[in-house]
Amino acid sequence: MGSLQNVVIAILVLSLLTFISLFGQLPALRKTPIGWLQRVLCLHLPNGLKYIDHTTTGGRLTSRSKRLGQYLFQEQNPVILIIFLLLLTSSSTLFLWNAFLRIPTTLLLPIPLLLFLPYYFTFLTVTHKSHFITPDNVHTRLRDYPYDYILFHPNAPACRTCDLPKPARSKHCSLCQRCVAKSDHHCPWVNNCLGRGNYRHFLALLSSLGILQIYGAYLSAYILLPTYRGARFNNTWTDVGDAIVAGINEGGMSIAGVGLLAASTAALPLGLLAYHCYLVWAGMTTNESQKWADWRDDMADGYVFKASRTQLRTQNRLRKYGGQPGAANGRGGGAEDSALVGGMGEDGGELQVPWPVYSDQMVVRTDDGKPPVGQEALWTRIWSLDQVENVYDLGGWENFVEVREGR
Ligand SMILES: [Zn+2]
Ligand SMILES: [Zn+2]
Repeated sequence: MGSLQNVVIAILVLSLLTFISLFGQLPALRKTPIGWLQRVLCLHLPNGLKYIDHTTTGGRLTSRSKRLGQYLFQEQNPVILIIFLLLLTSSSTLFLWNAFLRIPTTLLLPIPLLLFLPYYFTFLTVTHKSHFITPDNVHTRLRDYPYDYILFHPNAPACRTCDLPKPARSKHCSLCQRCVAKSDHHCPWVNNCLGRGNYRHFLALLSSLGILQIYGAYLSAYILLPTYRGARFNNTWTDVGDAIVAGINEGGMSIAGVGLLAASTAALPLGLLAYHCYLVWAGMTTNESQKWADWRDDMADGYVFKASRTQLRTQNRLRKYGGQPGAANGRGGGAEDSALVGGMGEDGGELQVPWPVYSDQMVVRTDDGKPPVGQEALWTRIWSLDQVENVYDLGGWENFVEVREGR
C-alpha cells in the first residue's frame, strides 16, 4: 500500500513540475506564482545544485548534465520524440492488453481512430519541410506577408548562414540551420521547427493527444468505478488518496496507473493547445509574442516612437532634393529611416504583397528616450501596444482560418 501511494504521489508531482517548467516561462505567466515557481525550479535550484557540485566534485556533474541538456534541447536529435512515442505506445498497449475485455464494444469503437491520430499528426509535423526557406522558394516566401515596420523590416540584413533575404515573420533556427517561414518555435518534441504549414499539424497533434488522454482516463475510471460503490467517501483529501490507491489495487498499474498518468498529464497538451489558440486568436506566433513583450516593456519605459511612413517618405524626398543630409539618432532612428527608403524604393514602390490589412505605421525604439533627431515633429511617443497595429492579426476567427489553410 505504501509503495503504491508513493507511485501516485510521484506521478502527480512529476506532472505538476513538468507543467510549471513548460508553462512558467510563457510571457503571460511570467509574473504569476507559476512563473515564480518556474524560476525557482529552472534557475535558482540548478544554480544551487551547481554550487554544491562545484564545491564537492569540482563541477564534474554540472558539465556532464549541461552536455546532456544541450544535446536534448539545443541540438537537433530525435531523443525526446522517441521517448514520447515509446511512452505513448507502451502505455496504450499495456492499458489495452489488460482492459480490452473489461470495456464494452461501444466504448472500444473510437479507440482505433483516437490512437491513430496522434501518430499521424506527429508524422506530419516531424516530416514537414516546406517551411524551410531555400533559394528556390525565397521569392514566394517574400510575398507571403508584408513587413510591418515594427517586428520585421524590409531591409533587415540577410541571414548570414543561409545567405538569403529574411521574409516577414521568418526566423533563422540555429538547430535546423535554416531560415523558417512564419517561424513559431523550434520544438524538441517533434525535432523540427514549427512554422508555415506544419503549425496546424502541431495543433492537431496537441488536440488529438489531449483527447486520447482524456478518453483513456475515462475508460480507466469506467472500469474502476464499481470499486468505489458503497465505499465511504467524504470528499476529504485522505479519501481521494485512499480511493486512488484502492483503484490501483483493483486495476493494477496497467489500468489505474495508466489512467492516472493520462488524467494528470492531459493538462500538458491541452494547456499548450489553449496557449497556442490564444496566440492564433491574437494574430501572433510564439516568436512574435516574445518580440511584442519586449516592445511592451520598452513602450512602458517611454523609449518607443511612432510615425507615418508616408510623412517620413515625404520628408526624405524633401531632404534629398533640398540637399540636406538625413540626421537621426538612436537604435532605430537613422537606420530605420534609411530602411524605410530602401524598403519602399524612391518612388514609394513597396514590394506588393496581397494582404487584407494595410498600416502606414513605422515604429522605432531609441536609446536615449528622445525621438529621432531632425524628425521630432513626425514622431509621437507611444506608451502601450494598443497604440500600434498588428497587421498580421486578421481578426480572431480569420486567424484560425489562415492556420487551418497552412498559412
Ligand atoms: Zn537562415
Ligand atoms: Zn528548428
